[in-house]
Amino acid sequence: MKYIFDLIVIGGGHAGVEAALVAKRSGLNVALITLDKTKTGRMSCNPAIGGIGKSHLAKEIDALGGYMAEATDLSGIQFRTLNKKKGPAVQATRAQTDKILYEKAIQEKLNKEKIEIFDDEIKDFRTHKTRIEKAISENNEYEAKAFVLTTGTFLNGTILIGHTKQEGGRIDEKKSTGLEKFFQKQELTLGRLKTGTPPRLSSKTINYSLLEPQPGDETEAYMSYLEKKNKHPKQTSCHITQTNERTHDIIEKNIKKSAMYSGLISGVGPRYCPSIEDKIVRFSEKKHHQIFVEPEGLESDWVYPNGVSTSLPKEVQQEYIHTIKGFEKAEILQYGYAVEYDYIDPRNLNKTLATKKNPNLFLAGQINGTTGYEEAGAQGIVAGINASLYVKNEEPWIPQRQNSYMGVLVDDLTRLGVSEPYRMFTSRAEHRLLLRQDNADERMFETAKKLNIISKEREEVFLKKQNEKEKIKKKLQETKIMVSGLKKTAEELCKRNDFTEEEVKKITKLTEKNFTEVYFDIRYSGYIDKQQRELDKMKNLEEYSLGLVFDYKEVVGLSGELQERLNKEKPKNLFEASNIEGITPAALNVLTIHLKKIDAIRAT
Ligand code: FAD
Repeated sequence: MKYIFDLIVIGGGHAGVEAALVAKRSGLNVALITLDKTKTGRMSCNPAIGGIGKSHLAKEIDALGGYMAEATDLSGIQFRTLNKKKGPAVQATRAQTDKILYEKAIQEKLNKEKIEIFDDEIKDFRTHKTRIEKAISENNEYEAKAFVLTTGTFLNGTILIGHTKQEGGRIDEKKSTGLEKFFQKQELTLGRLKTGTPPRLSSKTINYSLLEPQPGDETEAYMSYLEKKNKHPKQTSCHITQTNERTHDIIEKNIKKSAMYSGLISGVGPRYCPSIEDKIVRFSEKKHHQIFVEPEGLESDWVYPNGVSTSLPKEVQQEYIHTIKGFEKAEILQYGYAVEYDYIDPRNLNKTLATKKNPNLFLAGQINGTTGYEEAGAQGIVAGINASLYVKNEEPWIPQRQNSYMGVLVDDLTRLGVSEPYRMFTSRAEHRLLLRQDNADERMFETAKKLNIISKEREEVFLKKQNEKEKIKKKLQETKIMVSGLKKTAEELCKRNDFTEEEVKKITKLTEKNFTEVYFDIRYSGYIDKQQRELDKMKNLEEYSLGLVFDYKEVVGLSGELQERLNKEKPKNLFEASNIEGITPAALNVLTIHLKKIDAIRAT
């Protein structure tokens, strides 16, 4: 059969869903092709959205009208604010979700938006010169003006448990093949990465009386800016336990039987989500590792023991699980496994996420070497927006690292590539104070409006919030009190260390929810202005010629590594320098100071 659409998205994971939805919001006739449509939006690993750096991405997706955060609110069974005691830049929301409810929310949304979904496997593309014309499956041809490809962990996926190796992209799901040959023909660099998941346990067989409860926040939290629009289901608690020396002994004794250590896996795994084998080898001095005991759903007795992902043989998994407090009699419903898959080196992509070889083929998600739902969703929306703009023959949109984590993600991937699965952290952003999770709506609004991808409802919610924030600010400016004999405004108190947020709240009698956001806007306004000035300085980088810098070893303040790299690359100007791996805004600042010194010497 032959089908024709404006835009085709391949893969119904977290990247594919956001890409398809934003293409639909852009007014295009879009189709989603996936291996099994009943599994669209499936959470392959732990059912949770958010966390440090990740809720920032989920909220940026939301601010652009995406659906990840709304689906989280509809399926979230526990919400927690992380880093509550730290500054607002690193605070994050984490939601434990009901896996079935999450998938249901996603599938209902795709149905509601009338996105046509095909159960099919794309194996190749037909091209005309550099343009992709058709996506080809065994029996069908799908023609479109642009394509977004999001194969996740499925491209040549291999599942590994101990010494057993079988084909598959996820447990009980087949792998996809064929597209690697297309990429090889296009001379794009492919690589192998791996990730893993823990055994799932039956809640009926866990002794919860031995575990420490980990309840959610008392105050209601939401992932989406639409908040109460999406009602949470019943809330529940997670629990905590830990491994012990017996667990570690068993794992150490059997380490060679793990797929990871027996040489069966060549791909690199996620450093920040290591397997229990990896943790025991890398941190051998540690006697315990914490395990978060997370329910997979309200109606489900499946439990996700977060922290013991493994590719050890089944009998070893049984043995070590039973050494853990509360798991003595735990029944394993699904064994832990590792999955190894093909990814494309993201340096083959432009910042629009289009491949450099084929201008109408966009890649998003785990295929670009990332890990995580939020990272996938964020790339999905960026690729979906740009593929839609391409179809409409409009200028592309490139998220900037100065004002979004999406910008940091896309810039890091396309400029630096990956050597291990990439996950987002707030520490990856140089301008974290500007990129808070509470202000993603402010940071993305202009783009969302310009691209016309948010609903009237979202716009109204945003404007109402801005209005409330203005009122709070006004009250802070108008409220005056005497401090050490001097009249001070409440706004001034927000910046002082001898007044807490609670005290300012009490003085002003302000109880509005957005108070905290305004308080931090004011409290950090000095730093924010400084960061903004630094950013403004960086805008016209091409204008700063580096032609008179002959030896970077003379540039004081640059690391030896950067001096060497710059001497090798010899960038023409600061813009070219900014695209060199490892060059941070701080390093650019050092170069700017050096240029000023050269100017001063020349002027004398
Ligand atoms: P996926 O969610 O994998 O979706 C890919 C989609 O593409 C699927 O719908 C598939 O059917 C479809 N597809 C593939 N090939 C084709 C084709 N040729 N034609 C048509 N359709 C196709 N993330 C973490 O953050 N932490 C973890 O610890 C973690 N552990 C994981 C453990 C395992 C075992 C797995 C499988 C994943 C794990 N993840 C983890 C990763 C997380 O699941 C992914 O990052 C996320 O799902 C990626 O989203 P995606 O949209 O890129 O791909």
